[in-house]
Amino acid sequence: MDLKAIRKDFPVFKRKIHGQDLVYLDNAATTQRPACVVERLNSFYYEQNANIHRALHTLSEEATAEYEKSRQRIQKFIGAKSEHEVIFTSGTTAAINLVAQSLAQDYLKKDDVILLSRMEHHSNIVPWQMACERSGAKIEVIPFNNKGELDLAAAENLLKSTKAKILSFCYISNTLGTINPVKQLCKMAHEHNVLVHVDAAQALVHQKIDVQDLDVDLMSFSSHKAYGPTGAGFLYGKEKWLERMPPFLGGGDMIDQVSFTKTTYNKLPFKFEAGTPPIAQVIAMARALEYFDSFSAEEIFKHEDHLLELMTKKLKSIEGLKVFGEAENKTSVLSFNVDGVHAQDLGTLLDQQGIAVRTGQHCTQPIMDFYGIHGTLRASLAMYNNEEDVEILYEALKKSLGVLR
Ligand code: PMP
Repeated sequence: MDLKAIRKDFPVFKRKIHGQDLVYLDNAATTQRPACVVERLNSFYYEQNANIHRALHTLSEEATAEYEKSRQRIQKFIGAKSEHEVIFTSGTTAAINLVAQSLAQDYLKKDDVILLSRMEHHSNIVPWQMACERSGAKIEVIPFNNKGELDLAAAENLLKSTKAKILSFCYISNTLGTINPVKQLCKMAHEHNVLVHVDAAQALVHQKIDVQDLDVDLMSFSSHKAYGPTGAGFLYGKEKWLERMPPFLGGGDMIDQVSFTKTTYNKLPFKFEAGTPPIAQVIAMARALEYFDSFSAEEIFKHEDHLLELMTKKLKSIEGLKVFGEAENKTSVLSFNVDGVHAQDLGTLLDQQGIAVRTGQHCTQPIMDFYGIHGTLRASLAMYNNEEDVEILYEALKKSLGVLR
């Protein structure tokens, strides 16, 4: 991997922060975008801007063709059987709300159980609570151990002993970095006829995704965590589930026939795409994945694993520093605290040295409650990070702790 060339593709690295070169380690919140993605947004607006699926004029036909081509690119990227199994949304949160509200309409019944893991982002908790209010279903929680690994025996037990109808969990924890065994959990759930949804917000460019091999039923993604623009993402769903799920949002484009007495719905995938979608963002999201695909994914994952290992080793050598999330199988994310030091104070001092990390609960309050803490610092990696970033973080941490302790 030519890291220098990759960094040059990302214009933000020309910036100085408080007079220092930017060290960007907040990739789990959002990644930076390469110039080709920003250029694709611009070229759409400059040259092709029109609404899609609606008019016969040239611009609209071009915009529609680009939008649908993006669907095919994404289908290939995740290994879906058909392009109409890819539903565009504004991101993971929107995709999970679509799934939860749709299933609450006629799949979930009173006293059915939705199994969630304890390491979920609030986006994979709250929509299910809303679905429970609507349907009378209940949530049961799969615990994790101190290292941040899911308790698979407890999962099996809950699948066996409750009226489980849905299992929903994250592919990669945005706080602990844990990679959950998606294929194994899908197999376990299917043996009990339980539908599986996976929140893959953190996984799109950190794991090889092959939805057919994983045999997952539904999976949600965000573009902005994968070098693409904000405001776009998608839901993958097996055709048989998407066919039986009622639409969540009503409006233009998702209909077949409308009268005041009855409306019939459009075919897949349009049934779930009401209104004008984020057209430019979807097209630029596909461009971002095309950019990522121009490298070897294996090499990128190896590089990120190497940096995580190095960063973990270096940071753990700092006295009083405690890491949260030490699963055997983890990637890209390192959460930590230092004894007697407030995460926010440390985060502020790091920012003054040009380093962007996250501080707080990372939208995972149940994880904080498990460890009995208020928040952590989180350094998270992407393809453009390098050993120098890790070294600068390590030195800056030591310097900041010298001030704070
Ligand atoms: N799930 C996980 C695991 C996440 O990390 C995030 C984003 N932090 C989300 C869901 C929500 O994604 P978005 O804000 O893009 O909808």
